[in-house]
Amino acid sequence: VLLTPEKPFRRILTGAIIREIRRKGKFILFDLTSGDTLTVHLRMTGQFLLSDPGRPIDKHTHVVFDLGPGERQLRYRDVRKFGRLGIQSREGDATGSLEGLAPDPFELDAEGFYRRLRQKNRALKPLLLDQRVVSGLGNIYVDESLHRAGLHPLTPAGALDREQARYLWRLIRAVLRQAIRAKGTTVSDYRGPEGIVGGFQRFLRVYDCTGDPCRVCRTPIEKTRVGGRGTHLCPVCQKREKPRTIRP
Ligand SMILES: [Zn+2]
Repeated sequence: VLLTPEKPFRRILTGAIIREIRRKGKFILFDLTSGDTLTVHLRMTGQFLLSDPGRPIDKHTHVVFDLGPGERQLRYRDVRKFGRLGIQSREGDATGSLEGLAPDPFELDAEGFYRRLRQKNRALKPLLLDQRVVSGLGNIYVDESLHRAGLHPLTPAGALDREQARYLWRLIRAVLRQAIRAKGTTVSDYRGPEGIVGGFQRFLRVYDCTGDPCRVCRTPIEKTRVGGRGTHLCPVCQKREKPRTIRP
């Protein structure tokens, strides 16, 4: 889906030079020398693939970027078409896609993370998925982080003390760092730009592991639903504790 109408989208990108490619939360940002930024969210099935210009374009490819004479093309492919592409122009973000986006776990220190958790007395999992609270975490990485931290997804976020919040913050960063190093997680569609699958699925301990023995205690991993999302956990390592009284 194009968030910017096709005409200005083409006009801004034609002849544009990419200065830098950044990441913010779950967005990929292509900064152009013009001062505009192409913002992309792959959602469920979006893929960027580098391809020889001569190769046939399949029906799931929706945008083709010519990278210059003699260069390969960057093709945007998306089977389910949930992905979003837009232009954040110099004058401001007309697409609104990055508006209200919270800092990601690498931009927050332990204290900042703790303060964000404390403000809301919501369950941990939906809170961590909320991109206005902390950005960049999806279903896979939240389930993996909570298991490593030994926290039940329904634990009230405000019940964590400073030490527990710091521990969770460290594990979230470790999970993300490892996943970035492994070039993502491929449980179905994800591919890197060279068409290669990610590697983090080898390190999954709960996500997509229903019925497998927990790596810590050998109890079978369970799948349940939390806030409408499929949620994987170890019923022994991630006990649901009674919410403690929260100090004012
Ligand atoms: Zn366990």
